[in-house]
Amino acid sequence: MNGQYGDPETIDLIGVGFGPANLALAIALEEQGRLRDLGSAGGRVRFVEQQAQFGWHRGMLLDGARMQIAFLKDLVTMRNPRSRYSFLTYLQERGRLVDFINCKNFFPSRVEFHDYLEWAAARFTDVVEYGSEVVRIEPVTAGDGIDQLDVVVRRVDGSGLRRHRARNVVFAAGLQPWVPAGVALSDRVWHSSELLHRLGDIKPDEIRTVLVVGAGQSAAEVTGHLHRVCPNAQVHSVFSRFGYSVADDSPFANRIFDPDAVDVHFQAEPQVRDMLRRYHDGTNYSVVDLDLITELFERSYQEKVAHDQRLHFHNVSRVTSCEQTPMGVDVTVHNLALGCASTFTCDIVVFATGYRPVDPRDLLEPVLEHCRLDEEGGVDIGRNYRVRTKPQLRCGIYVQGAAERSHGLSSVLLSNVAVRAGEIAQALTESLRHPDESLATAPR
Ligand SMILES: Cc1cc2nc3c(=O)[nH]c(=O)nc-3n(C[C@H](O)[C@H](O)[C@H](O)COP(=O)(O)OP(=O)(O)OC[C@H]3O[C@@H](n4cnc5c(N)ncnc54)[C@H](O)[C@@H]3O)c2cc1C
Repeated sequence: MNGQYGDPETIDLIGVGFGPANLALAIALEEQGRLRDLGSAGGRVRFVEQQAQFGWHRGMLLDGARMQIAFLKDLVTMRNPRSRYSFLTYLQERGRLVDFINCKNFFPSRVEFHDYLEWAAARFTDVVEYGSEVVRIEPVTAGDGIDQLDVVVRRVDGSGLRRHRARNVVFAAGLQPWVPAGVALSDRVWHSSELLHRLGDIKPDEIRTVLVVGAGQSAAEVTGHLHRVCPNAQVHSVFSRFGYSVADDSPFANRIFDPDAVDVHFQAEPQVRDMLRRYHDGTNYSVVDLDLITELFERSYQEKVAHDQRLHFHNVSRVTSCEQTPMGVDVTVHNLALGCASTFTCDIVVFATGYRPVDPRDLLEPVLEHCRLDEEGGVDIGRNYRVRTKPQLRCGIYVQGAAERSHGLSSVLLSNVAVRAGEIAQALTESLRHPDESLATAPR
């Protein structure tokens, strides 16, 4: 690949981001014998990842936190149970297969699953460019249309911009932290995604008051974690619900994450999709595992028994202001039921207020005029995850992750990464073999 502006070599595929989604794609391509020769002569595949090394939500690898999917929903098993990249193969190589079975738990710790992902990613270092952020994707116009895209990349070490050229791009940039409007993150006001990185810079014993905003799984985990590691701190948890709501992982509801559910969702009319989303967002959004809810309640109760309360829950409440001063962070908490407000001066405030999928339109802006848009102005994504384009744009743009509206609730999760990666790998190889046919027959 060419290092500077000029005429870069054209390769078959560039993947934007190398989280679990594009890692699963790399594996699927390798298992089809296509990773190092995707289609055209000399065609190659490359992934560009902004982190300096592989990492999956490292700031939230909290002690005791467990996966919210069964280990069988790893990078491969749902697509190819015989794969050498399965969680079971990983366990065997690590010498823990028998012990894991004896644990009788389908849900590994997040730390262990991260180790599994790292183990798999380590086999693909030759196709990943770490420490590089994709900043935009531009069309390469030649003759009567666009057959290539330029992926402009900024090295995070400050060594400048580079341009890579490809026939296909698979966008898998994952989630970005979200905080309410007006919140300014700082060395004392954090988003939950940075928790462990930030905690490394402070002395937990010296923390007197912390406040956590949010009622989802991350908020509950952060509350429990800070209560554990800051032994002298008053820990305040603020949320507008009456109490934490339980994550629904019962078997019938869980089927919303099945590979087949993608077809159901994709074929449904927009109002049916919205209805399904409303019925089942309790499987994922603003909900907490029952074990954790019970544990937090029990901890708080035991403190009441001991007349030594450090854990405080402010329900039906909202943070209305959060201002850093030389003394700490002044936070006003408004009780929505009583109409009164309390003020806390905190050492640390953590906004565990969730994430939003990175919108592909941000990077694709220079190409957007050649893409078809859906009724809400987002890129229109076909069943095989390929963005529908106008006839003049003939190269492939695929989206993993930011497709919840069209492909359902599993889009931003791990549940379907194995099968989805197989579908994209298949679409890529077919389109490179028969470029015209694949455009003409692209599924709705
Ligand atoms: C704390 C936490 C726990 C979770 N636990 C679960 C769980 O148990 N089960 C589940 O199903 N889901 C879980 N999720 C949901 C999560 O979305 C998925 O686990 C998973 O991260 C999706 O993989 P991905 O590759 O799509 O996205 P990501 O893991 O977010 O990976 C995207 C990658 O792209 C890189 N990137 C982004 N923009 C650029 C750019 N411009 N240039 C270069 N690189 C870029 C990022 O650095 C990142 O490495 C969890 C989420 C969080 C935050």
